[in-house]
Amino acid sequence: MKITAAVARQAKAPFAIEELDIDEPRGKEIRVRVLGVGVCHTDIISRDQQIPVQLPAVLGHEGAGIVESVGSEVSKVAPGDKVVMSFLSCGHCPSCASSSPSYCHEFAPLNFLGRRPDGSPGLRSGAEEVSGRFFGQSSFASHAIVEESNVVKVDVDEVSLPLLGALGCGFQTGAGSIMNSLACQPGENLVIVGGGAVGMSAVLAGAICETNTVLIELNESRRALAIELGAKAALDGNDPDFLEQLAAALPGGVNKVFDTTGIGSVIEKFIGLLAPRGMVGLVAAAAADTKVALDVTQLVIRGITVKGILEGDSHPDVFIPKLVEHFKAGRFPVEKISKTFPLDNINQAIDEQKTSAFVKAVLLP
Ligand SMILES: [Zn+2]
Ligand SMILES: [Zn+2]
Repeated sequence: MKITAAVARQAKAPFAIEELDIDEPRGKEIRVRVLGVGVCHTDIISRDQQIPVQLPAVLGHEGAGIVESVGSEVSKVAPGDKVVMSFLSCGHCPSCASSSPSYCHEFAPLNFLGRRPDGSPGLRSGAEEVSGRFFGQSSFASHAIVEESNVVKVDVDEVSLPLLGALGCGFQTGAGSIMNSLACQPGENLVIVGGGAVGMSAVLAGAICETNTVLIELNESRRALAIELGAKAALDGNDPDFLEQLAAALPGGVNKVFDTTGIGSVIEKFIGLLAPRGMVGLVAAAAADTKVALDVTQLVIRGITVKGILEGDSHPDVFIPKLVEHFKAGRFPVEKISKTFPLDNINQAIDEQKTSAFVKAVLLP
C-alpha cells in the first residue's frame, strides 16, 4: 500500500514529504490510519543523529489514529478502534514483568533499530529500504504499522483524538513524572524547570495533584500560559532577584524539583534548593557528556533523592486511559498547549514550536 510520510534523509536537514510503500500488518501487527502525531524533541535529535537511527527513516512516536487492519494474531483491538500509540517493550524482561515497561531491557533495539526482528523495515521507497518502527510506530505518516502491545484503545470523539497522540510520550512523561515518579501530594511545593511539552504537562499534573507549582522558564508567553494552567508562579531563572521570588512563592522550601533541561549546572543549583527529604526528578535527553556534581554529605544529612525518569514511569495501558479521563473532565486540557499543522508543514511546525507559547506541534496527516 502507498502512504505519505515525512522522511528524514540527512542529519540537520529538513524532512521531505514522500510517497512510500508500507507492508501489510503481520502476526501481532496493526495498521493505523494516523489522524494526529505530536512532534517531540526526541524526533529531532534522532534525525540529527544524537540518537543514531539509521537514515533514511520515518520518525514520529506520538501518534493517534484509527485501526484500519490487523494481523492474524491480534486480539487487543479491531478495525475502527481509536488508539493512541506509545513505545514498544518486550513484555517479558524483569522490568516489563514488574509493570515498568519504559525500563525494558530491550528498549533501545525495539524502539530505535528501525527494523523488525527478521531485519525487514516495513517501509520502502521503490527498492530502497526506509527505517520504520521508530518507537514501534514511525507515525510521521498517513499510516503506521505498530505492534499490538504498543497501542492503547481510547474512548474519545474523533475531533479530540488527533490531539491525544502525545499522551503516548511527551505528555505521559510530564504527567507521569509528577503523578508516578515524584508521587506529588496535595500542598507540596513543586518546582518545574523548563516549560516545554514535558514541563507544561507537568504543570497540568501538578494542578491535578494540588501541589504549589512554580515553573522556571525563560519564555515570557510560556510563563503566562503556566499561570493560566494552574501554576502558582512562573519565574525567569535569569532574573537577578530569582531566589527571593522563589522563596516568596514557596515559603517552607522546595519539596520536589522536576528538571526538563538536562543542563548540569541548572540541576546542581536546584538540588541545592531542596528542603530536607526533597526529591529531584531528571527527565531530559541531555548531551552525552552531561555530569552533575553532588555534595554527598548534603545529600545524606538532608535525605535527598535523585531519580532518573523515562516515560514518566508509566505503563501506557494503565496511565494513558487515566490521562484520557482527566482530559475529558477538563483537568488535562491538551488543546491549550498544542497547535495543529498539516503534515506537509512539518518543518515550519518544528521552527514555530521552538519559540512560541504553544509547546506541542501536532501534525495532521
Ligand atoms: Zn522488556
Ligand atoms: Zn518523545
